[in-house]
Amino acid sequence: MDKYGLYLNGEWVNSDRALTVYDKGNGEAIAEVSTIDRAGIRKAIEDAEAARSGWANQTGITRGNLLLKLADEVARRSDEIARDITLENGKPLPQSKGELGMSVDHIRWFAEEARRSYGRVVSHQTEGKRHLILKSPVGVVGAIAPWNFPLVLSLRKVAAALAAGCPVILKPASATPICAVKLAECIEAAGFPRGVFQLVVGKASEIGSEMLENPLCRKISFTGSTEIGKRLIEGAAKTCTRLSLELGGNAPLLIFADADLDKAVEGAIIAKFRNTGQSCVASNRIYVERSVFDAFVEKFVAATKALKIGYGLEEGMDIGPLIDEAGCESTLRFVEDAKAKGARVLCGGTRGDGDGAFVTPAVLVDLSEDALCMSEEIFAPVAPVIPFDTEEEVVRLANDTEYGLAAYAFTSDLNRALRLAEQLEAGTVGINESVPATSNCPFGGFKQSGWGRELGTEGMEAYLETKHVSIGGV
Ligand code: NAP
Repeated sequence: MDKYGLYLNGEWVNSDRALTVYDKGNGEAIAEVSTIDRAGIRKAIEDAEAARSGWANQTGITRGNLLLKLADEVARRSDEIARDITLENGKPLPQSKGELGMSVDHIRWFAEEARRSYGRVVSHQTEGKRHLILKSPVGVVGAIAPWNFPLVLSLRKVAAALAAGCPVILKPASATPICAVKLAECIEAAGFPRGVFQLVVGKASEIGSEMLENPLCRKISFTGSTEIGKRLIEGAAKTCTRLSLELGGNAPLLIFADADLDKAVEGAIIAKFRNTGQSCVASNRIYVERSVFDAFVEKFVAATKALKIGYGLEEGMDIGPLIDEAGCESTLRFVEDAKAKGARVLCGGTRGDGDGAFVTPAVLVDLSEDALCMSEEIFAPVAPVIPFDTEEEVVRLANDTEYGLAAYAFTSDLNRALRLAEQLEAGTVGINESVPATSNCPFGGFKQSGWGRELGTEGMEAYLETKHVSIGGV
């Protein structure tokens, strides 16, 4: 079994307490990663603070060049790290490779952004005064990442914070720390100064509390559930620690009768089943205009049945295991609840074969409005499909959720597409496409899906403070 230490203040540190990591495809223990206690986290924050001004005072070009070296190193090791992601997360290898490609692109994007931290000069209103607006790094950042896209979602924080001039402490999810260890190895190989990146693994509540309560930690960037996001908001109320929150979703996907139906089926399959449905932007509810409902369902069920489920390292797999048994149980509960309230299961929705937490991809119809899967985030390969009659009705249904991370629509009517783009309450709207996230555009949620944005120019802005300098007697 592989044994990994933590990367703290430029050194690899082993502790006597370790976290065991499992192959999600077969339940076998594959690695042990050292863990840290609260005193260790405090020390990591202090070491990050010691590195802060040196890092903040580097030129953007210097920081960007180090990030470019990091991108090259991650790209060089991408086959190995993609395999690690498949083992510790379960997703099929081609999807892990896709995650690696996007991760490298994120690092390159922020490497380029590092030299573009623009302030501005504002014209004066009073004789003899001048006004400068400066941008300065926010300070030490705590980055807390989830397990579903363990590398790429860590990098949306780590690369942006480093580019902006902030030291960053990464806490990966306990289910998927190996790719974070590999990222730390790449950061070491790229030659970043000691203390500007550190990796901590341990009890989440202790790490979160220290990040919230230690005044040296100026910002927490969190991706995960809305429940934990709200706990961080409560904690931050005491210290005003800045928060960026990327939380849960309940994305609607709308298919209009004027859409290219085959493209809509293809898009719905990706939007629903990519990452085994464990995606914050997964389409939770699929609404189809009544005149094409039966035709869509027939094609969608056929495409769903054709998906291959199995061990992520085996060739040709589309669907891997869920992250754990709890995920499996909650999926089966969603299906049973919908059935009890009148739904028909057209395929799947059962426990799959194998030692991992496999569930067969499901399509549900005849859903009652109070079925739990209509209001809660499913986070599994279960697709509720619902008919609608008018655009006005479906926009109301789509927006009838406390979440607002993503929404999708398939239509060939340009005017309708523009109306939907304006009316759907979500941080990301995909029109005739189902994988809209890209390095150079902002990503984040409306309503209870979060605060702030990652990626794009906004993604670096999240790590910068704005300062007004007023100069008198000019
Ligand atoms: P989670 O349980 O909230 O965990 C996310 C991270 O928070 C993990 O690193 C976890 O550590 C840590 N954590 C748990 N309790 C904490 C605490 N008290 N203080 C500080 N950190 C704490 O979420 P998940 O189950 O990993 O991820 C699924 C959720 O994330 C879904 O709701 C999904 O929609 C959302 N998500 C959102 C986005 C987005 O961009 N908006 C992207 C991906 C996922 P441990 O693993 O050690 O418990």
